[in-house]
Amino acid sequence: MQPITNHLPTAELQALDAAHHIHPFTTQSELAGKGARVITGARGVMLRDSEGQEILDAMAGLWCVNIGYGRDELAEAAARQMRELPYYNTFFQTTHVPAIALSAKLAELAPGNLNHVFYAGSGSEANDTNLRMVRTYWAERGKPEKQVVISRWNAYHGSSVGSGSLGGMKGMHAQGGLPIPGIEHVDQPNWWAEGGDMSPEEFGLERARQLEAKIDEIGEDRVAAFIAEPVQGAGGVIVAPDSYWPEVMRICRERDILFIADEVICGFGRTGEWFGSQTLDLTPDIMTIAKGLSSGYQPIGASIVSDAVAEVIGNCEFNHGYTYSGHPVACAVALENLRILEEEKIVDRVREDTGPYLRQKFEALTDHPMVGEAKIVGMMGSLALTPDKSARAPFAADAGTVGFMTRERCFANNLIMRHVGDRMIISPPLVISKTEIDTLIDRAWRSLDEGMAAVK
Ligand code: PLP
Repeated sequence: MQPITNHLPTAELQALDAAHHIHPFTTQSELAGKGARVITGARGVMLRDSEGQEILDAMAGLWCVNIGYGRDELAEAAARQMRELPYYNTFFQTTHVPAIALSAKLAELAPGNLNHVFYAGSGSEANDTNLRMVRTYWAERGKPEKQVVISRWNAYHGSSVGSGSLGGMKGMHAQGGLPIPGIEHVDQPNWWAEGGDMSPEEFGLERARQLEAKIDEIGEDRVAAFIAEPVQGAGGVIVAPDSYWPEVMRICRERDILFIADEVICGFGRTGEWFGSQTLDLTPDIMTIAKGLSSGYQPIGASIVSDAVAEVIGNCEFNHGYTYSGHPVACAVALENLRILEEEKIVDRVREDTGPYLRQKFEALTDHPMVGEAKIVGMMGSLALTPDKSARAPFAADAGTVGFMTRERCFANNLIMRHVGDRMIISPPLVISKTEIDTLIDRAWRSLDEGMAAVK
């Protein structure tokens, strides 16, 4: 077989891809006839494909390339670490410098008493860890019946059996026997779609109190934890009304329930602070991290846990761990990524400069006839598409999936935006410049026009 490189014609690469590669979350027939777009390189916020097109990546890959593409420093950190110590594990009383240094750095950056890190290879694995960890925590504290974890419908916490069960994606639960027992879901704080006649504040309280009702129904002595994303990402960038989180925090404290903040998307500057929990004033016992931890340059995830949880877990043998927990190359790359985020003041820029600029431009998209609301926190935002803004109406099912069509138009216009039903979402690299934000907005407007034309 001839070597398969960037130099092969696109059609040949696509044919090989279609023949042998199963894509995640993709109906293979979607690709029939056109093939998958072949990405061959990237720099800053721009991707390049095998046809030489330059595409603005307003999703930072999968919400992860926070420092942008093409940073040689990370490649060099990886190469250095591979030469020095490419692999060793952290089981059985051993450790290594990259894991030590990254853990100390994360303890410094994380809020409150979150000072201890358990590593995984991804966000899904870290949430699997959390599920076992909170159950073990209560068992070790003499309350072995405190085992149920409450989550939210339309949450995304990963794709493994455990994390997919923690998530509330009905399409995922329909396959492969999810959710596993001991996981319950309450409704999400999505006012636009589900708020009816309530004000956002009334609705936020109502949704928070569903958690309280669910704890009462199950029995407080059986509930281990509540897990939630500070801002729901894959569910459509759902920003809860202001009344929601203070009430949730009150309920978790009063009912002696651990709170797990899934910061896999919100962490590392995405919301304009290091963590979404700081932006929204949350006090988690555990935070799940991944993605922006290494800006996606290496697969790595982790749970950052409080002193109180670490004391209990550290004093029993927690029979859990992954071959790649604390992988030295991933840790070295993550450290270099954190150095860049910090030294280049990227998080500060999102909070004070480019974030507010993006907000102003993004919110102006509500002038488009099809955009009912624009929600944005830092550098994650969503647009609700609607045929009737005042009624907050969804598109009729037979209008086709307008979000899908708009996303296709974005793709054709060299802009990566995603859709979740009729919500269009963005999460660009945090280093996006104001000029690039203008390009993003221009291409989004044009794609909205074309998406709307396709519905009519
Ligand atoms: N948690 C959240 C909030 C996520 O958005 C994701 C991925 O998108 C995950 C967990 C799972 O992370 P991974 O895909 O690294 O397993």
